Amino acid sequence: MPVQKHARPVDINNRRIINGLEADVIQLYPMRHTFAWDYYLRANQNHWLPTEISMQLDIELWKSPNGLSVDERRAFETVLGFFTTADSIAANNVVMGFYKHVTSPEIRMYLLRQAYEEAIHTHAYQYIVESLAMDESKIFNMYREVDAIFNKEEFILGFNEGIFDGSFKTGDFASDQKFLENWCVFSLIMEGIFFYSSFAVVFGFKRQNKLVGSAEQIEYIMRDESMHLNFGIEIINHLKLENPELWTREFQDRIVGYVRKATELEYTFAKEVFPTGIFGLNAQGFEDYIKHIADRRLERVGLPAQYGVQNPFPWMSESIDLSKKKNFFETRVTEYKTGGALNW
Ligand code: FE
Repeated sequence: MPVQKHARPVDINNRRIINGLEADVIQLYPMRHTFAWDYYLRANQNHWLPTEISMQLDIELWKSPNGLSVDERRAFETVLGFFTTADSIAANNVVMGFYKHVTSPEIRMYLLRQAYEEAIHTHAYQYIVESLAMDESKIFNMYREVDAIFNKEEFILGFNEGIFDGSFKTGDFASDQKFLENWCVFSLIMEGIFFYSSFAVVFGFKRQNKLVGSAEQIEYIMRDESMHLNFGIEIINHLKLENPELWTREFQDRIVGYVRKATELEYTFAKEVFPTGIFGLNAQGFEDYIKHIADRRLERVGLPAQYGVQNPFPWMSESIDLSKKKNFFETRVTEYKTGGALNW
């Protein structure tokens, strides 16, 4: 719809996450989805770059023939094999799945920031691979060669189908539901489940005082990712409020089914990473951990928990709390005016 000269001011009551007036999208005020603006401001306080983190200790450890066991090297390479393509998948969905169809300017503002953060994450993995002089073609191609990575990515990429078509448009029940489904899958599963056993592996290394530079990179990534997840949950809950007809019983069951399938894919992946178990982490622990976080994601959007298992890795939430307290900017060469606040 073209902009109309001397048209009436934008009515805040017409602001909607999807199917709002397209001509209004370039106008930030009046702002209805103020939570998105808060996310945008907080994300800007979290600015960081991979090249600001020293990789020296990791380089020495990786080079030293007895620095890491064969299993430890394999575990680290496998999680990098997942990470290196995962953030590109997330970025593509933000730009080509979400952005175009969102009619709230403040939500678009945060999505622009989120897309940039996904690029920084891919940069961080590239920087780790380059610093450790790993074989790029091996790591970056692992998603095609390792079944457990391929299966996760194939599952997620299936949800781009339809939405990425140039002709896809929201505005009817089926398309709106498909759009909501895409957001549920990318937030709850991709950002809420599929990254977490890999995060846990890296923090497992850190607890052994190994690969501490890589672990610091991943701490900043995990802080960004947990904002992406929380933002996605806000979006899903707001979409439910604005479009309650989409949240049918059948739809809810379908999302629960996807989360159950993803939980299986994720612990199959963890088994690939730890065929024998290293430093107290093993496949059984991961199965419980993944089930535990899957339940938490479901509950946040009002869906029933499926597994009811205890968290076997309470130190994962400690890792989050620790990095929250840490003042990244005290130790950095580059200074950011707004830096210093490390909040989720
Ligand atoms: Fe993300």
